[in-house]
Amino acid sequence: MYKVGIIGWRGMVGSVLIQRMHEENDFFNINAQFFSTSQAGESVRILKSQESILLDAFDIGALKKMDILLSCQGGDYTKKILPSLRKKNWNGHWIDAASTLRMDSDAVIVLDPINKDAIKSAIEAGNKNWVGGNCTVSLMLLAIHGLIKENLVEWVSSMTYQAASGAGAQNMKELLIQMGELSESLDKIKTNTNILDLDKEVQLIMNSDRFTKKLFSAPLAGSLIPWIDEKLESGQSREEWKGSVETNKILKSNGHKPFSVDGLCVRIGAMRSHSQALTIKLNNDYTIEKIEELIASANPWINFIPNEKEESIKNLSPAAVSGKLSIAVGRVRKLNVGENLISVFTVGDQLLWGAAEPVRRVLNILTNKTT
Ligand code: NAP
Repeated sequence: MYKVGIIGWRGMVGSVLIQRMHEENDFFNINAQFFSTSQAGESVRILKSQESILLDAFDIGALKKMDILLSCQGGDYTKKILPSLRKKNWNGHWIDAASTLRMDSDAVIVLDPINKDAIKSAIEAGNKNWVGGNCTVSLMLLAIHGLIKENLVEWVSSMTYQAASGAGAQNMKELLIQMGELSESLDKIKTNTNILDLDKEVQLIMNSDRFTKKLFSAPLAGSLIPWIDEKLESGQSREEWKGSVETNKILKSNGHKPFSVDGLCVRIGAMRSHSQALTIKLNNDYTIEKIEELIASANPWINFIPNEKEESIKNLSPAAVSGKLSIAVGRVRKLNVGENLISVFTVGDQLLWGAAEPVRRVLNILTNKTT
């Protein structure tokens, strides 16, 4: 049985990964050991059958004993630990949810419904580094998989609406704290019917110095933040840059036609699940029926929503999608601003197909469990 060390199991991505591994009985297939950067030595019940003593995630000797290490701990941890392990001749598989290694030539971005052949070839070639893609990239590729398979896409502009949990467990809590602070004005709703006074009260709270914004550095509850990650020289945010480079690394790895992707990435006050409004330039004028059919039938996870008001409101939102493996895809129609342009609105749980699921599935591929 493969010895698999899991680091970052209690974070946002890690918690969802553990949940999915239980659901799919993955722990029966491996000898799992759990590591922590802050709680080594503590006893925790992660496996149903027994308690586990947490190992020290900075102990290179303990890490080296693992055949496979799966990290959901974040990029700083990867930067610090992986080079030390390789220097000590550790030749195991490193699976990561962080972005650090994604563009390295010796790392494969894993999204097996799209690039399983590339993953299989890389295993045969002796590749050892496997990285889950950026959440919006993986979700977008699965959402428009049908157009990709047929090589119909010329370019995509993706405007994202990304949930608080995309920034981690602590940020999710900060959004809830902000919501709580805004609800201080609730008492006044009962006594004060003047909507402008209530609105002013909410604005005062969210813009006051005592409003909690340590992590987001701006109000997210009742507002939005039009920037995710650092600024690059191109004027893009790093999150926006990832959209194009990662998409094309995944597509090229499996022989698909590459295409450009660009747009703005925006953090919104949703708790979980990322939404994206896509403008897609197709290489020809196809009927809307053909486009819908290709999108809807591309893979088992698409939940195609017809372009109708009631169905879109009910099914095409973070509230409807969170916690589900299915990816909702709708608002498909031809745009009136140019030729061969269509709109697509898609919502997917960024903690499932956007993070935990691709790394869970590559673990199964590496340990020969059928996915
Ligand atoms: P996270 O929730 O911030 O967790 C990371 C680590 O923070 C945990 O493993 C834990 O480490 C520590 N931690 C400290 N206080 C905690 C608390 N109160 N609750 C839970 N954990 C706490 O990070 P994440 O969102 O899972 O992201 C992990 C990596 O995946 C990052 O590189 C991120 O960029 C990437 N990623 C995230 C998403 C997403 O949607 N969140 C999507 C794709 C990729 P110890 O147990 O060792 O203390």
